[in-house]
Amino acid sequence: MNAPSLRVAIIGSGPSGLYAADELLKAHSGAQVDMFDRLATPGGLARFGVSPDHHQRRKIIDIYERQLFASGRFRFFGNVEIGRDISHSELSAHYHGIIYSSGASADRMLNIPGEDLNGAVAATNFVAWYNGHPDHHRDQYDLRGERAVLIGNGNVALDVARMLLLPTAYLSKTDISEIALNALAKSEIKEVVIVGRRGPAQAAFTLPELLELKHLDIDIELQGICDEELNKLIAEASSRVESALRLRTLQELAKQPKRHARKLIFRFMHSPLALLGENKVSAIQLGINTLSHDGSKALATSETTALDTQLVIKAIGYRGRALPELPFDAERGILPNEAGRVSSGVYVTGWLKRGPQGVIGSNKMCSKETVASVLKDCSQGDLKQAIDETDIATRLSKANINYIDIKAWRQINKTECAAGLQVGKPRKKLLSHEELMQAAQPADAVAGR
Ligand code: NAP
Repeated sequence: MNAPSLRVAIIGSGPSGLYAADELLKAHSGAQVDMFDRLATPGGLARFGVSPDHHQRRKIIDIYERQLFASGRFRFFGNVEIGRDISHSELSAHYHGIIYSSGASADRMLNIPGEDLNGAVAATNFVAWYNGHPDHHRDQYDLRGERAVLIGNGNVALDVARMLLLPTAYLSKTDISEIALNALAKSEIKEVVIVGRRGPAQAAFTLPELLELKHLDIDIELQGICDEELNKLIAEASSRVESALRLRTLQELAKQPKRHARKLIFRFMHSPLALLGENKVSAIQLGINTLSHDGSKALATSETTALDTQLVIKAIGYRGRALPELPFDAERGILPNEAGRVSSGVYVTGWLKRGPQGVIGSNKMCSKETVASVLKDCSQGDLKQAIDETDIATRLSKANINYIDIKAWRQINKTECAAGLQVGKPRKKLLSHEELMQAAQPADAVAGR
């Protein structure tokens, strides 16, 4: 077989990396892609960010089987961390180009008093917990209070609210982590308050996620806005179809008969000022806001109020992390880039490129743009001509790095799906790194031990 004319490493196996690999293999018949992930399993946020009750959205991971592996020009190297197991410079020697697609996994701070109290948690960690992330599956949350407060009103807040309010009988049919399921089964939370600093017209959640609430066994209440004001906003938004529909849906949700044991409250025009309590959160102090003329800013008034709660979850967005040897825009939490090009031979896609916005599908166009930049540099001769042809697999094996390849991933996948099938779930996730590595071994290796 001829050596590939374009050898590319993709770092991070979430949706943006997937789309980049797919695009590259389709667009360049001589391309060979090696994808690296620090975790044993491919999928990134598709496995650890997508909500368990939306598990059909994880289907994007199947692209690996259908398109990437089937191409014969794609390899997966799980359990390999760039910067720990192999450096960026070393990797660069083996590839014409490297695309970073490692996402935005860090949380953002509110910078208010009490943020370090027990019971004040980041949605990034909470989501990773219920999705069985190996670094978070053993985290513990105190779910004994009757009320939880979520700060921020984006789709992550809605995901977390559903997990806290949906009956466990329903959640047990999803691929939620068993540890989280058991903890949620004992939860005493009856009310979740989603606090938005601006009004309903500026809320960050999207229409499909709101519409979904209509069919769940949860009562909905609106606070910080009355029906008359909502009617006015709906009239003002009439030319913006999505906005008008979102507002109308909120209004309809609030008017549904109240008949359930658990309640979701959308509280608008409030900002968190402080978390109160000794060692542990016991209440949150909120400031009441007005809106700037164009709605772009929440303006504080002198009025405040407080809510008793033992659990405050910050769902105010994610942040990218700086990577060794690479430039970083700390303000935006991204790798500075132009159309995905960081420098000759180094590229970025997904949330690390554009910030943490957009649904899974948004990564398709984003990765297409990045791949176009790779191909442009390639056609202009801007990529290095000579690379170290030693197979990276040999280099990793020599360093005793126990990487997960396609065969090993298929073993894990098979084990999880078979275990799920037995109990009526799409998949029963293996939670710890050790369990995953164990399942990755071929059956004969396990039998022969
Ligand atoms: P997001 O959509 O950016 O929402 C963040 C929320 O936090 C906003 O309401 C924002 O208010 C608020 N906020 C930020 N800083 C704050 C502060 N200091 N004090 C109070 N509130 C603050 O973030 P996300 O919910 O993490 O979602 C990230 C991306 O993933 C989004 O594009 C989302 O659509 C996507 N996602 C999609 C799905 C899905 O498709 N089902 C599920 C999860 C996530 P302002 O607007 O006033 O700044």
